[in-house]
Amino acid sequence: MLNSMTGPGKSGFTPLFDKSSLSVNHVLTCGYNPFAVISIAGLTAHSFFILLFVFIGANQLAVLNIVSVALWLTAFLLSRKGRAISATLLALFELMLHATIACFSLGLSTGFHVYLWAAMLLAGTTPGISIRSSSLLASLPLLLLIILEMLIGDMPYPLKHPEYVSYILLSNILTAGLILLFVGVVIRRENDRQRQRLIELANHDELTGLNNRRFGHQALEQSRLRAGRNRQSFCVAMADIDYFKKFNDTFGHDAGDAVLCSVANCFRTRLRKSDTVCRWGGEEFLILISDSSLENATKLVESLRVSIQNMKVESTHSLPGITVSFGLAQFLPGEPIDELIIRADNLLYQAKTEGRNRTVVQG
Ligand code: GH3
Ligand code: MG
Ligand code: MG
Repeated sequence: MLNSMTGPGKSGFTPLFDKSSLSVNHVLTCGYNPFAVISIAGLTAHSFFILLFVFIGANQLAVLNIVSVALWLTAFLLSRKGRAISATLLALFELMLHATIACFSLGLSTGFHVYLWAAMLLAGTTPGISIRSSSLLASLPLLLLIILEMLIGDMPYPLKHPEYVSYILLSNILTAGLILLFVGVVIRRENDRQRQRLIELANHDELTGLNNRRFGHQALEQSRLRAGRNRQSFCVAMADIDYFKKFNDTFGHDAGDAVLCSVANCFRTRLRKSDTVCRWGGEEFLILISDSSLENATKLVESLRVSIQNMKVESTHSLPGITVSFGLAQFLPGEPIDELIIRADNLLYQAKTEGRNRTVVQG
């Protein structure tokens, strides 16, 4: 007896497929969160600024940076608690306040205004608010940048150690640039990841984890084109669980789902990597057997049928045995895919009318 790979769950089974990893919510919520790294960078930079400002004699700015460190620490903790909007707003406030006071105290030559570019990106990518709101938010640092340029212009550096001004400017450009680079790369990586997840979602059946009908159609079309080029044939088996409705009606929908997952798992584990199985509809599956003669495909499908007949579904209910009927057809050169599917479907219908739990192969 072949045991299905189902574990205990609410109804005595757990789906074979990790549904959460394929849910739309998962794709949308598991978004990027570079904030932790940005806030650690903010904390580190401002701790360094305290020393720098003491060194150049800007003691008030040193005190301001103690406040900044506290704000970044709070922002970091807020983001860790999942309060991304509050964290971003706090960070934005700090960046703008710091740039304003530092620029008014030291002039633009030290480059404390360059952090406003990073602030724009941070505000523009705030998660959880509308694009309109984040655009408005992102325009604030831009506006401040213009105001600072207009009001301060080329005010000379007023404090000790003017020989270090260019180093301060360079280190500010470097830090702000690295933050921009980092956020850009994270956004890009997240985009790629989410696109990949959406493709998976679009091609998979959520319950069984098998490919879905849409994917099946594409695979069939590709096989048809390949067969035209290589003169290698392929076969299509249409499978339908016998009297499936009775599992639902007698034991409940969850038991029906467990049966579907067990059958799907049997197909998945017994087929070759080069074959494709997809959930075609409710309790119907389509199997594409590539590069195979009808004779070999018949042997394979018969072995699947026997495996399922011997399979035991683990469930809190003692479920009766499962059987599946198959209709098997070989692709005829030049034949449209829809016709091949209809032929396999008709053979399946014949298997049903002849008593079920059998494979009817094209004559
Ligand atoms: P036959 O041997 O002629 O194929 O009979 P059957 O009972 O298998 O076929 P029928 O078409 O009468 O019933 C199919 C049932 O499959 C009806 C539908 O409620 C059920 N079904 C479809 N999708 C799902 C699903 O995702 N989960 C569960 N539990 N049931 C489903
Ligand atoms: Mg059925
Ligand atoms: Mg059916």
